[in-house]
Amino acid sequence: MTITSIRQQLLSGETNPTKLIESISEQIIERDSQVQAYVSYNLEKALADAQEADISKPLGGIPIAIKDNINVLGEVCSCGSKFLVKGYISPYDATVIKKLKTAGAIPFGRMNMDEFAMGSATENSAIQLTRNPHDHDRIAGGSSGGSAAAVADHTALAALGSDTGGSIRQPASHCGVVGLKPTYGRVSRYGLVAFASSLDQVGPITRSVDDAAHILQAIAGHDPRDTTSLNEPVPDYLAEINQGVKGLKIGIPAEYFTEGIHAGVRKNVEKCISKLENQGAEIIPISLPHTSYVVATYYVIAPAEASSNLSRFDGIRYGNAAPNPSDIIDLYYQSRENGFGPEVKRRIILGTYVLSSGYYDAYYSRAQKVRQLITRDFQQAFQLVDAIISPVCPTPARKIGACSDDPLQDYLSDIFTIAANLSGFPAISIPCGTTSYDGSDNLPVGIQILAPRLGESILLRIAKAAESEIAAKDFSS
Ligand code: GLN
Repeated sequence: MTITSIRQQLLSGETNPTKLIESISEQIIERDSQVQAYVSYNLEKALADAQEADISKPLGGIPIAIKDNINVLGEVCSCGSKFLVKGYISPYDATVIKKLKTAGAIPFGRMNMDEFAMGSATENSAIQLTRNPHDHDRIAGGSSGGSAAAVADHTALAALGSDTGGSIRQPASHCGVVGLKPTYGRVSRYGLVAFASSLDQVGPITRSVDDAAHILQAIAGHDPRDTTSLNEPVPDYLAEINQGVKGLKIGIPAEYFTEGIHAGVRKNVEKCISKLENQGAEIIPISLPHTSYVVATYYVIAPAEASSNLSRFDGIRYGNAAPNPSDIIDLYYQSRENGFGPEVKRRIILGTYVLSSGYYDAYYSRAQKVRQLITRDFQQAFQLVDAIISPVCPTPARKIGACSDDPLQDYLSDIFTIAANLSGFPAISIPCGTTSYDGSDNLPVGIQILAPRLGESILLRIAKAAESEIAAKDFSS
């Protein structure tokens, strides 16, 4: 089932919003104890919303699962953290939630995530471990692992995630669903709990490209409450989605197809590229020469911003406070010591270090300069091509626990997704068949499409053409 097919059923009277919420809650009860994608859900509230739903609206009566770092009025917003899971209830709706409600959708369910969105496996959640629906011994990816796993496991129809370095696209790829990170500023960040403000974007995780377009249509647009929000018209994202790829120029970056990529991932992605070529796309080899710096650059800039953003969690303003502090400083120390998990502490320490006087120039300002070079690589490439295609991740989903002693290994898994955040360009991850990996068969592979600033329409158009090829052909390797 997709949003598109459910909408038809709603309009024809074959189902209604109440039945829809009931059937999703049955699925959750039946299956989510294994996958553990949901941190919580408020069935009573969703059923009340369903009673009021206006199915004539674009997303009328459609339930959408929400990553647990997006504020929904009256609901706990845990960010996957001990700090917030008990004691922080959102006093307002994020702009994306307001917009979804305006479009008629029903926010239903709070989805598990890496603590404060720091991670690639949802193993850094302080609340629970989300498993990959395709193989329960494997990670769902992260940080939006709960959102992607639920959509893949049919316990949610569609979800919102957030993406700072790949957190929508990477779990979507590992779980075999669609994930879209819009252009920076296309979707308001107001009410998204900030991780790294110059990189964060909210976007949809869905079962089809059309569904991603439906949700983007609802959430995109200018928001005076987010100073980085773009004041540009929102096009009709479905208008050109079926136009195919004939005549489009698609760039294939040499640096994204080097050694280290699993052979099955490479094979499936290359097969899809040749199908697009058969449909009339012109395939052009390109170079993104600063690719080898993206991970290092990100792991200076993102922790720097995080160390600043997370200073607001002090035990006073939000969530849990330490019980018996000796004075105010002790309250800060103890609350932060008990509230944050190891990965969040690691990032705060790293971020504070790169911003400290004496190291600022060597690390932070140098990383900002390299960020410009990485962005320029893409700007130059987009003078030659309409879009760029690459794998989403070097390998399919790894086993749970395989990187617990080696966070760097997980950092490297974001090598193909981070550049879109550093440069602000939009990117989508769509399922590209399955492959065998590390003793398991049939693990999903993802293909990534990147487009110039505000190029979501072209992105969706190429994604739709690829989706139809992949659906029609055998893509297992
Ligand atoms: N895996 C990356 C990190 O841990 C990206 C996370 C994200 O996009 N939120 O920072």
